[in-house]
Amino acid sequence: MARFIFITGGVVSSLGKGLASASLASLLQSRGFSVRCRKLDPYLNVDPGTMSPFQHGEVFVTEDGAETDLDLGHYERFTGVDARKTDNVTTGKIYSTLLTKERRGDYLGGTVQVIPHVTDLIKQFILKDTEQDDFVLCEIGGTVGDIEGLPYFEAIRQLGYELGRERVLFMHVTLVPWIPAAKELKTKPTQHSAKELRSIGIIPDIILCRADREIPLSERRKIALFCNLPEDHVIQGLDVASIYHVPSTYHKEGLDTQVLKHFGILHAPAPNLSRWEGIARDESERQGEVNIAIVGKYTGLGDAYKSLTEALHHASISNKTLVHVHWVDARACEPEMMSDVLRGMDAILVPGGFGERGVRSKIAAVKYAREHNIPYFGICFGMQMAVIEYARHVVGMPHATSSEFGKVERDEDARGSLVGLMTEWVHNGTLETRSNDDDIGGTMRLGAYDCVLHEGSLVAKLYGTTKISERHRHRYEVNRAYIPALESAGLVFSGMSPNGQLPEIIELPSHPWFVAVQFHPEFKSRPFAPHPLFDGFVKAAVTHRDTVKATG
Ligand code: GLN
Repeated sequence: MARFIFITGGVVSSLGKGLASASLASLLQSRGFSVRCRKLDPYLNVDPGTMSPFQHGEVFVTEDGAETDLDLGHYERFTGVDARKTDNVTTGKIYSTLLTKERRGDYLGGTVQVIPHVTDLIKQFILKDTEQDDFVLCEIGGTVGDIEGLPYFEAIRQLGYELGRERVLFMHVTLVPWIPAAKELKTKPTQHSAKELRSIGIIPDIILCRADREIPLSERRKIALFCNLPEDHVIQGLDVASIYHVPSTYHKEGLDTQVLKHFGILHAPAPNLSRWEGIARDESERQGEVNIAIVGKYTGLGDAYKSLTEALHHASISNKTLVHVHWVDARACEPEMMSDVLRGMDAILVPGGFGERGVRSKIAAVKYAREHNIPYFGICFGMQMAVIEYARHVVGMPHATSSEFGKVERDEDARGSLVGLMTEWVHNGTLETRSNDDDIGGTMRLGAYDCVLHEGSLVAKLYGTTKISERHRHRYEVNRAYIPALESAGLVFSGMSPNGQLPEIIELPSHPWFVAVQFHPEFKSRPFAPHPLFDGFVKAAVTHRDTVKATG
C-alpha cells in the first residue's frame, strides 16, 4: 500500500519545491523503493497548455500526451519514471469533472459544495492508480494561505486523518532569509508559515528550510520548538552549484533518513548515490566552452525552456564541455541584425514556438547557420522555420509560409501552404481529425509517436537505430506535397511517421550538422541518459569551434 508524502510551500514561491520533491523521490528510489510524483495545481486553467510560457514557464508533455506543469519534467529527470496524464491535476480539471457530474445528476439532488465534493474529487485524484507504488509524492502548487489552494490543503488534511500517520507525511518547504543589516538568518517567516498550516489543521512532520548559508543549530532548534518538531526534522536546504547535487546534499542533511523513520522503516538499505556522484564528477571535469545561440521568443524567462536547457546541460556533461547559452530574442532583433548577433557562435538552435512574431528573424537565423556551416538544431517550430527557409532561399519559393500565420492570398499553389494545419492523423490505431474551428486547448498532436529513420542518415547514426519514439506537441505539419521539390534541392526527409505520411525529421547532408525535428526530444533527455540528438549537437559545436580555431 502506497505511503503519501505531501509537499507544501510557505513564505514565498519559487523555493524549489519541485526539485525537493524530485530529489526526495530519487533518494527513496535509490534505496530500492518505487516512487511516483504528482503535482496539484490550484489554478483554474484545465491544463497549462493554453497558458503563455511567460506566465507559467514550459509546458511539459508526457508520453501519454498530457500538457503538464514543468515540475513533472524535474520528476522525470530525477527518477527516470515516465509521468502520466493522471500525475497533474488543476482546479480547472477538478471543476470540469464536478460540473459534468452535476449536470448528469450524479449528486442526486444534493447541494454541491467545496467540502465534501471538490475535496473528494481531489482525494480521488491523489489516490488513483497508486497501488503499484511504495511512495507517492504530491506537491501542492503555490504557498500556504493562497485562497485557491485551500481545498487542496483541506483534502490532504483529511487524507492525513483517514490514512493515518503511518501512511502520510507532511513536508513543508520554507525560506530562512539572511538579513544583511542584522547579519542574521531569520526564522520568523517559517514560524508564521507553520502557524498558517496549523490553522488549517496540518502539522508539518518535516520542515525543509531553504537558505543561502548554513543555518546555525540554535536557529534550527528555535524552528523545531515553535513548530512542534524534533530538531532533526528541521532540515536545511542550502543553495548548490548544480541541481543534480541536490539529492546527495539532502541525503547528507538526513532528509530521506527522517522520512523513512517517520514511516517506521528502520532497516532500509543505504541509498546508492553513485549515479549522482558520477554526474557531479563529470560536471566538474568539464573543460573548455562552446557558445550556443537559442533564437526564440520567451528568452527572458529561463523556465520557458526548462527541458531544453536541461537537455543541453546533459549533453554538456556527456561531452565534458561547458555550454554557454546566448539567448536571442527573435522579436527584439531585426532579421538584418542576425548575422551580427550570431557571429562567433559555435551552434544555433531554434526551439519550439507559436505565432508569427519573430518569425522573420528565426528564418534569418536558420539561413545564417545554413550558409555559414554552423551546426543547426531545429525543434518543432524550428523545423518548420528551417523548411520554410530552404524553400524560400534554395528551392525558389519566395512566398513559402505556414498557415499558422494566416491565409496567404498570394499563394495560389493548389498544394496549399508549405506548412499547414494537420487535419488528420492516426493515434494508437484511431483516426484523429481537426479543423480550424476546433478548441485550442488539448487538441494538438500530443505525446509519444513512432518515427522511422532512413538507413544511413545522420539521425540514424546518432540514435543507433532506425525506429524511435518521441513526444510531440504541434498543430501544423510540413505539407508532404512539397517533399519532392525540397528533396531534389538537397534537403533530406530522414524521419517519417511509420505510415510515411508525416514528415518528422529533416537533415542537410551537404552541411556539417543540420538537423531539425517535428518533435520535442528535450522531454526525454535525462542527466544519466543524455539525448542522442543533443549529445550530437554539442559534439558538432565542439568540432565547429575547433575547426574555426584551427583554420583561423
Ligand atoms: N506552432 C507550431 C505548431 O503548432 C510549432 C509548435 C511547437 O513548436 N511546439 O505546429
